[in-house]
Amino acid sequence: MAAHTVYKEPAPLLDRENPLESMMSRFNIAAEILGLDDETYNVLKAPDKQVIVNLPVTMDDGKLRVFEGYRVIHNTILGPSKGGIRYDKHVHLDEVKALAAWMTWKCAVVDIPYGGAKGGIICDPTTMSPGELERLTRAYTLALKDVFGPDRDIPAPDMGTGPREMAWLMDEFSKTVGMTSPAVVTGKPLVMGGSLGRTEATGRGVMVSTLAALSKLGLKPTDVSAAVQGFGNVGSWAAKLLSEKGVKIKAVSDVSGAYWNDNGINIDEAIAYKNAHNGRLDGYTGATLMDNADDLLTTDVEVLVPAAVEDVITEHNAGDIKAKLIVEGANGPTSASADPIINEKGIMVVPDILANSGGVTVSYFEWVQNKQGFKWTEEMVTERADRIMTDAFNKVYATSQKYKIPMRIAAYVVSIDKVAQTYKFRGGF
Ligand code: GLU
Repeated sequence: MAAHTVYKEPAPLLDRENPLESMMSRFNIAAEILGLDDETYNVLKAPDKQVIVNLPVTMDDGKLRVFEGYRVIHNTILGPSKGGIRYDKHVHLDEVKALAAWMTWKCAVVDIPYGGAKGGIICDPTTMSPGELERLTRAYTLALKDVFGPDRDIPAPDMGTGPREMAWLMDEFSKTVGMTSPAVVTGKPLVMGGSLGRTEATGRGVMVSTLAALSKLGLKPTDVSAAVQGFGNVGSWAAKLLSEKGVKIKAVSDVSGAYWNDNGINIDEAIAYKNAHNGRLDGYTGATLMDNADDLLTTDVEVLVPAAVEDVITEHNAGDIKAKLIVEGANGPTSASADPIINEKGIMVVPDILANSGGVTVSYFEWVQNKQGFKWTEEMVTERADRIMTDAFNKVYATSQKYKIPMRIAAYVVSIDKVAQTYKFRGGF
């Protein structure tokens, strides 16, 4: 018999602070403040469902490779679960669990009728061909056909995925149910039921919450400078929209490094450069390459927008942060160990579950439009999304004032309270 040639992606090691523990430590503080009863606490602390799938995919060289994928449904008491799918070589089940719980809190904080979920596949999409990615996406969809559904669990893009993958997912799911089912997934291309304003939605929400926070701090956008870590969908849109409001973007970064311009970076130019260079800023000359990309986080600006990956602000660098305001475009960019240091320094943080909730909010609008069979104008989308973001910001701010707690914990208090109250009304255990 021939030797086995099936190759499986190795499971990644978790060589950083565990995001699930980071999430739980904040959840515990908020639960304590709320006086959450033990029953509800025990229900919420673990996900409702965790699915692990083995995905055999024929690669372009003809060999079969097996990928491991996850879908974690954290909670569905408020509605069908919602959350993106991440393609990355560092995807880890504990990370997916944390991200799924964050989706529950995120949807609750902006008051949209969804629970939380997240998916991920251990893979390196940067080294895979479009054909391989399509087969992987279709295999994942088929494996999860009984989990996904327009009224059950609705995926969306996250790191490493975008409209293209969502189109394949929608197509594969539609085939399995025998009818075109646009509402099963959001973040689709515009021509096939995507929403106007969805691409820029997360960055736009970061901009809206930054302006709201600046006004509480008594600062004018035209008087402040910012550093944005990450120049993908979230970071580039946040930088662009903030610069349009007069904020001077002194630093941006991506995997190729961090770029600094004391006079402010021309963001439209940087985006055009990135689009013309394989999605990367390598060789961009409108700013100087910083010696150490991590220095972007501790640079001398008023506003810091971490919009890349988890756990970049830790107990090791939090003490050096000079910004007065941190607006978390990424999910989980600050590990729990940094919280006391940031609080001690009096830095205001607009936490991930609030700051980046503009994306899922417009995903919700996309889903509503698919169910209505009626397309909204861009004005309808942005006006409604901005209002939801502003209301959520004000509610979290008022809660932080009421309990004299940081905005992060206040966001958890608002979310957990909504979920806990719903459990009381629905009963059942
Ligand atoms: N992946 C995005 C997030 O973390 C969007 C989720 C969605 O639109 O469902 O919020």
